[in-house]
Amino acid sequence: MPPSPATYRGRFAPSPTGPLHFGSLVAAVASFLDARAQGGSWLLRIEDLDTPRNRPGAVDAILYTLERAALHWDGPVTHQSARMEHYEAALTQLRDAGLLYPCTCSRREIADSIVGMPPSGEARYSGACRGRALDSRFPRPPAWRIRTTAHPIAFDDRLHGRFETADLESSTGDFILRRADGVIAYQLAVVVDDAAFGITDIVRGADLLASTSRQIFLRRTLGLPTPSYLHVPTATNTRGEKLSKQALAAPVDSGNPAAALWLALRFLGQQTPASLRHAPPRDLLAWAVEHWRPSSIPRLQSASCENPEPLH
Ligand code: GLU
Ligand code: ZN
Repeated sequence: MPPSPATYRGRFAPSPTGPLHFGSLVAAVASFLDARAQGGSWLLRIEDLDTPRNRPGAVDAILYTLERAALHWDGPVTHQSARMEHYEAALTQLRDAGLLYPCTCSRREIADSIVGMPPSGEARYSGACRGRALDSRFPRPPAWRIRTTAHPIAFDDRLHGRFETADLESSTGDFILRRADGVIAYQLAVVVDDAAFGITDIVRGADLLASTSRQIFLRRTLGLPTPSYLHVPTATNTRGEKLSKQALAAPVDSGNPAAALWLALRFLGQQTPASLRHAPPRDLLAWAVEHWRPSSIPRLQSASCENPEPLH
């Protein structure tokens, strides 16, 4: 069911690991159009918790490109690095409920405990530290993992329909919410923030489909409602794209954002009229909001969300 226009709240949540590239622009455009077409708000959140991966100047570059592309957001920009107490509160809630445990496995130990490599090349955590007491002495600072369960998690994607995913215990295994270096895991921060800001609709790249069941599991565990999801193809998981790899990975040229916007709209299957080929971003987006057809977005050829992401 389409969400009610009065309550729609969407967001774009880039990580400042570099300037905006075409793949993130596609996610920005799709989430922006979906929100605006329904009279909703569109918030901007900088996912800057993974400090070793942050690049100096990336936040400014992303904001500048979005502005040049007339992708105007509502309200102040949120920075996850300023919201640590909210993630710590969620961790405390989960720890008090007996759902977290400390894990001191090194990457090497985790790799060694895998029998054979799964086809995705990604590892399921074996649960080696499950029995560890909270007050045990640690040889090194622990990571904190959440106990997963054998209940399968299903969800509906507005474009792809129903995903019946394997249960987390046998697919990803117990996953990390706080890394040994103290960094809050993306999975936890995204859930806490989307709930805190009342996000009703998550429109993002399909590379994050693999994370969706973990996020729904976390939401249920924290007693938070599940939003609606729409995953759009990403440059990395659509095969046979005519655009070259270099063009997809290159930063969006903030000197000529209209060209990138045009490509993003075509990538999203929107039938932009030739008369707008050289229109300024504002005009292009005005047309695209009015004619937004999510059902025209190309579906993934082989949608898969069973494969967990690499541990991080
Ligand atoms: N920060 C994530 C990324 O840049 C996006 C998170 C999300 O949309 O859920 O890939
Ligand atoms: Zn462990």
